[in-house]
Amino acid sequence: MYRNWLLFLLILSALAIFPGCSSSVDVTVAAAPAEAAELNGGGIYNRGEEVTVSAVPQPGWEFVSWTQGEEVVAETREYTFVARSSISLTANFRPLEYAVTAFAQGQGSFLYSEETPRHGVAYVITARPEKGYRFVCWLEDGEVISTEAEYAFVPYGDRELTAMFLPEEYRVDLTVDAGGEVEESWTPDAVVTLAAVPQEGYEFFGWVDMESQQEVSLQEVYSFTCTKTRTLMARFRKEVVPVDGSNLIAVVGKATTIGKYAPKDLVTLPSNLSVKGRRVRQQVADALAVMAEAALADGVKLNVDSGYRSYQTQYDLFYRYVKRDGVFKAETYSARPGQSEHQLGTAVDFGGTNRDYSDGFADTAQGKWLLANAHKYGFALSYPKGKQEITGYKYEPWHYRYIGVELAMEWKESGLTLIEFLQQKNQAE
Ligand SMILES: [Zn+2]
Repeated sequence: MYRNWLLFLLILSALAIFPGCSSSVDVTVAAAPAEAAELNGGGIYNRGEEVTVSAVPQPGWEFVSWTQGEEVVAETREYTFVARSSISLTANFRPLEYAVTAFAQGQGSFLYSEETPRHGVAYVITARPEKGYRFVCWLEDGEVISTEAEYAFVPYGDRELTAMFLPEEYRVDLTVDAGGEVEESWTPDAVVTLAAVPQEGYEFFGWVDMESQQEVSLQEVYSFTCTKTRTLMARFRKEVVPVDGSNLIAVVGKATTIGKYAPKDLVTLPSNLSVKGRRVRQQVADALAVMAEAALADGVKLNVDSGYRSYQTQYDLFYRYVKRDGVFKAETYSARPGQSEHQLGTAVDFGGTNRDYSDGFADTAQGKWLLANAHKYGFALSYPKGKQEITGYKYEPWHYRYIGVELAMEWKESGLTLIEFLQQKNQAE
C-alpha cells in the first residue's frame, strides 16, 4: 500500500512537472465476469476532469467492488475520481445467493450439495426417505417437478421444494399389458393418477386390481387416493374390429365386436323346444324344430336352456361372473357385451340335465347326440375341447351356433374351430 502511494505521488509530481505531455486520458472499464453487468462511464476524458463510472448488475449478479489491478478502489457501484492518467478499472461481481428450502411430506431428510446455491451454478439436493418410507417425487407449487430422489438444477431464484415420501405400504405396483404404457403421477395428498396410453393399433380396456381381480376402471385416466398397497394392471388389446351381427357368418370372438346389435326377427321357442321360453332368430327356431324332431326320433329330447341375450343382459351377466370369479377367470367362460354369440340370436345352450354347463354335459344323451348330428341341421359347436388358445373360451359341449346346413357340413369336414372356419369364409368373400 505504502509503495503504491509512493508511486502515485511520483506520477502526480511527474504530471505536475510535465502537464502538457498529453491533454486526454483513457478510462477503460470491464466487468468480471463480462456477462454480469452493464457498465457506464468508460471513454476518453480531459486530464483533471471528474469521472464517474457505474456498474448495473444483470439479474442474478451482485456487485462486489471496483478494482484497478489488484487494488480495490471502490466498494460502491458508482465510483467518482479525477482523471489524471489512463486507467483500467474492473467491476467485480459474484452470482447471487439463493435460498433453497426443502420440506418433507412424510418421513425423510435431505442432502444438499456442498456449495451455497448461487445464480447459474448447478446445485443438487437429494431426498432420503426414512426407513419404511419411499421417495415418490419432488413437488413445487403443487406440480411434480421430478421423480428422481437426486434433483439437480441450476438456480435462478429462491426455491421451495417439497419431497413426498410415502410409507412403503402405499406402493402402487403396476403391470402393463402389451400394447401400451402408463404415465404415473402423485399429488401431496397421495392422490394417484394413472393414465393408460395405448400404442398405435391397440386400445385400452380396463384397470384391474390384481388383488381383488376386479375391473376398477374402464377409463384411461384413473385417479384414486392411495391408502394401501395396490397392484394394478393396465390392460390393452388390439383394437377390436366391428362386424355386422346380422351376418350369419359374422366372426364373433375376442378380437371383434357386434356392438349393441340386436336382431329384428326374434321369436320365442315353443315349450317343447325350450322349457324357459328362450328366444332365437326365426330361421334358427325353424332349424331347431327340425333338429329336435330328428333327435326325438332317436329317443333324445333336446331343450334350449339359453338363447338370445341382449348387450345389456350380457353386460350384467359378464360382470356378475367377474364379481364372483374375478375378471381373468370370467373371461375364460363368459363373453364381454358385444362379443357374445348369444347376442346374435343364433347361438343356443342346450340343457335341462343334471350336468348342465359342465364338461359332463358331453356325456348326456343331448350332448352325445348333438356332437354327432347338430351339423346336419346347421349347428356348429363353437368351443370344442382343448381349443381355448384359438377360441378364447374353455370347452362348452352345450353351446351351438347356427350357420346354415351347407356351411355347418363344410365346417365339420374342415376340422377347424368354428371361429377359424368363419374367418376363412369371411376372407374368401
Ligand atoms: Zn352359450
